[in-house]
Amino acid sequence: MVRPVASPAPQPAALGRLLAEVIEPGLCVACGACLGLCPHLIFMDGQVAAPDACGLTSGRCYSFCPVAQRDALGESQGTLGPVLGAWQGRATAPDLEGRAQYGGVVSELLALALEQSMVGEAVVTAAGLRGAPQGIRASERVGVLGAAGSVYAGGGALGRLNQALEEDASHPLAVVGLPCQVQAISAMRAAPRPNPAAERLHLVIGLFCTMNLPWRGLRDLLARHGVRPPLDRADFPPPPAGVFQVWGNGGYHEIPLEEVRALSYPGCAGCGDLTSEGADLSVGACEGKPGWNTILSRTHAGTGLLELAAGKGLLELEPADPASLEHLNQAAAAKRKRAAAWSEERRHG
Ligand SMILES: Cc1cc2nc3c(=O)[nH]c(=O)nc-3n(C[C@H](O)[C@H](O)[C@H](O)COP(=O)(O)OP(=O)(O)OC[C@H]3O[C@@H](n4cnc5c(N)ncnc54)[C@H](O)[C@@H]3O)c2cc1C
Ligand code: SF4
Ligand code: SF4
Repeated sequence: MVRPVASPAPQPAALGRLLAEVIEPGLCVACGACLGLCPHLIFMDGQVAAPDACGLTSGRCYSFCPVAQRDALGESQGTLGPVLGAWQGRATAPDLEGRAQYGGVVSELLALALEQSMVGEAVVTAAGLRGAPQGIRASERVGVLGAAGSVYAGGGALGRLNQALEEDASHPLAVVGLPCQVQAISAMRAAPRPNPAAERLHLVIGLFCTMNLPWRGLRDLLARHGVRPPLDRADFPPPPAGVFQVWGNGGYHEIPLEEVRALSYPGCAGCGDLTSEGADLSVGACEGKPGWNTILSRTHAGTGLLELAAGKGLLELEPADPASLEHLNQAAAAKRKRAAAWSEERRHG
């Protein structure tokens, strides 16, 4: 008797998995890694949406998504990831004053990489007309400076990076991203060749990050406090301040931190990377030194750019204060622990 051969169970479509595991449970953090690759995913008013279906069983949208791939992330190297040098610094150029979030190190390094033709374009995040964050492509200092400052909402900028990588061009690219975006970039670079991300992405500057907000949630929160975006500036000052500081509509406003935390992306709870461990350079606030940055150089490319900037007098640079570095280590360890507990609870709960 000939036994019927059982046909293998059909593989679920990649987009179907992304929807079921990330987007529908509300875990998307709007990094943009799934955008700009196909017509089935779009970014609207700060949110990723899938207007129709796609039947491909393997898709870059799923394999690049940092939330979908969290379990596949390898072990970290120490609490801060690979570090070749730890610094504190600030940019010296007067045109960054009042524009940069803290020391302007990110913007100065990008502008230098463009000026030196190390890269031909930089993908950054900036507030658009009504304040909604969006990815933009800058090829000159003026464009980089236009994106200086932090927008505390997900802007989907990696969609712009995907767009740049899909074009028939060969110039090297730089990108600035949050730790989840840097994780997605590592997945892009590791994809099978031919792979434009591996070939053209020459500089990745990662930011420190503890949480982020969905644009719609931030906009509604601001409205409740009588503020209409775009904002002139926003900041989370260090403890014990306990407030979100907002400058906009000609005034200064303080919003209690608990109100802001309650709105953060649920997907941030499972994120264990504070300092963008996969970047060439990681940059955050400098504890106890307002207007300065902490800088971790992680690769030879990152270290080379930092040394060039310091050598040209574009950056004031000194070794990181050991006490502030120790606090950064503790904060990074605490974030990793919280994320591990959250993931464990989801697995068993
Ligand atoms: C959501 C968010 C959370 C953060 N959390 C922390 C934290 O907990 N601790 C800490 O030390 N630092 C945090 N930072 C980083 C900090 O705000 C500064 O970006 C960093 O210190 C660099 O300062 P700078 O003066 O060199 O930046 P600038 O020279 O002003 O450049 C800022 C760069 O940030 C990019 N950017 C702005 N908004 C976004 C966004 N939404 N997504 C991706 N990129 C963006 C812009 O493209 C720009 O290139 C956070 C930043 C963001 C956007
Ligand atoms: S987290 Fe990033 S890759 Fe994943 S669904 Fe959201 S935007 Fe797309
Ligand atoms: S906490 Fe993690 S997931 Fe959330 S925005 Fe920051 S880097 Fe992305």
